Amino acid sequence: MSIVVPVYNEQPNIEKFYEEATKAAAALDMDYEIIFVDDGSKDATPLILSRLTQQDEHVRAFILARNFGHQLAITCGMDHALGDAVITMDGDLQHPPSMIPELVQKWREGNDVVQTIREATDDAGFLKRITSKWYYRILNAVSPVHITPGGSDFRLIDKRVLETFKQFREHDRFIRGLIGDIGYTQTFIHFVAPKRYAGKSKFSVRKMLHFALDGIMAYSKIPLRVSFYIGMLSGLLSLLLILHVIYCNIMGEAVPGWTTTMIVDCLFSGFQLIFIGVIGEYIGRIFEEVKHRPLYWLRAELGQHKDR
Ligand code: UDP
Ligand code: MG
Repeated sequence: MSIVVPVYNEQPNIEKFYEEATKAAAALDMDYEIIFVDDGSKDATPLILSRLTQQDEHVRAFILARNFGHQLAITCGMDHALGDAVITMDGDLQHPPSMIPELVQKWREGNDVVQTIREATDDAGFLKRITSKWYYRILNAVSPVHITPGGSDFRLIDKRVLETFKQFREHDRFIRGLIGDIGYTQTFIHFVAPKRYAGKSKFSVRKMLHFALDGIMAYSKIPLRVSFYIGMLSGLLSLLLILHVIYCNIMGEAVPGWTTTMIVDCLFSGFQLIFIGVIGEYIGRIFEEVKHRPLYWLRAELGQHKDR
């Protein structure tokens, strides 16, 4: 059993997390490892991790060379996990380690993926609740795989699922969608996320937006298709406008049409800019992928390497 935990400037949380996770994992009658992935922290996180790996042979740590983002940090941990099952969870105790036995139980009942669903809570903040709800609605409307609202990156996957997952090497990844896409037998557990143990959320609005866009762009060609339909529609509208202008001309009302010019100009420059943007997003992604860069690289690897 492997527990993968991405941490980014989580200095005040790591030890508490380590204690709770160890308590939960040690109570299971199976061997386990806790894999921390330090996502380029600037605080004492790597130091604490180094100490933990020396103290406890169940702990391993991968120190990334810089901040690669939550999704790639998780990926790094998953790539190195040796267990028969892998649990991914946050290091700020918002994914309660006390739920580990329940996840393992569901796995032993024969489920390959045990996905947790975060219940909407009042303290999540009005804006985050509303945007999250609408985001999942739009995402599901445009994407061919169903992504359950409230899905988090707190889940257990079987080794078989992990082996499949490791073959998906895209950069702009939305692990929730990938796991859904991979299939196998999946089951769900609902949970209420407690507040962060200490510190602030490491997701800025910019990171959140980027993450949201990755979810849509990675799963859907619909934004491209929409551009085609709107292009058709605006083409039709401009045809009608041209007919109108010719009609006016014939009827001798050919005062140079300032209004029409303005409308046409605004409408089309607007549409063009929007869809150049859409196309640009996809081309940007193609650009990222064709470089075939490694997804992440390590500054150090700490702890013992041993089959569990
Ligand atoms: N995290 C990370 N890299 C980042 C941002 C976050 O590894 O660039 C880690 C963070 O340390 C935490 C988990 O991802 O363990 C979830 O982040 P956070 O709690 O800030 O997100 P929130 O719960 O606010 O969605
Ligand atoms: Mg959190």
